[in-house]
Amino acid sequence: MTFQSTNGQGNLPANVSSLSALLYESYQRYVDLLAGGAVRDVDVGGVFHASAVGHPCQRYVAYHVQGFPPLWPLDVNDRFTEGRLHDAILKEVFNQSKLPVLPAKSITRTYTAEEGTTQHAVVLTGCPDVVIDGACLLAGQDDWHQGAPIPVELKAVADSRFTWMQTKQAYTLQATPWWPRWVMQVQCYAALLQAPLGVLVVKNKESGELWQQVVPAMAAQQWQVLIERLGGIMAAIGQGKALQGHPKTSQLCRECPYQYACHSGLEGC
Ligand code: SF4
Repeated sequence: MTFQSTNGQGNLPANVSSLSALLYESYQRYVDLLAGGAVRDVDVGGVFHASAVGHPCQRYVAYHVQGFPPLWPLDVNDRFTEGRLHDAILKEVFNQSKLPVLPAKSITRTYTAEEGTTQHAVVLTGCPDVVIDGACLLAGQDDWHQGAPIPVELKAVADSRFTWMQTKQAYTLQATPWWPRWVMQVQCYAALLQAPLGVLVVKNKESGELWQQVVPAMAAQQWQVLIERLGGIMAAIGQGKALQGHPKTSQLCRECPYQYACHSGLEGC
């Protein structure tokens, strides 16, 4: 299979810069692997990641749990790399602060989804960026389990998005794929740590300004809905059933790193 360049002119021209060529080759390798049926990352297959389960598209979640490699456009990849640098700096800020920072480590738990008389195991994993001893945050609030480890997720965004998040009361908005994902990511960490809440700390990449959003843990009923959604996705994968997706022209699909599999007819889920 030939990987098409985004300008619709077929293979990239020979005079692309060496860096682009290198990255292009690695993309091409993924696509070739996919075409050959050898695409799954065995380390992630079958395990739901807290960072992905809140995506509005269940097919996206299905690709993710099966270990399909996400193929982001190069500029988005660059943003992720830059974001990780901001995360590393923010983590250091936490470590140097007077806050009681606990060791952050990956946590995995298995839950059970019921579908009629059938049960499906749902394995969820995640590693919060920072974990704080909740005693300092929750002092004086007895009903919030003083001393619980509180997960903190760090994000860095462009100035326009930073402003949008605050002015549009983003916590209640479901208009973008990334915001509900971030909220649910924090809620999954809270569930994995059995904490009453988590905190999302967002940094404005341009100004350095920080904004924090306290995210309460999911209510039991909401949590049940999530586990059943994930159990349904596992069941569909196991039975080879197609999951409902979105139109190819939708914004969700245009920004999706799994378009190459989802809308190519190459391999579905
Ligand atoms: S391309 Fe669209 S339908 Fe397919 S996984 Fe992505 S968002 Fe879902």
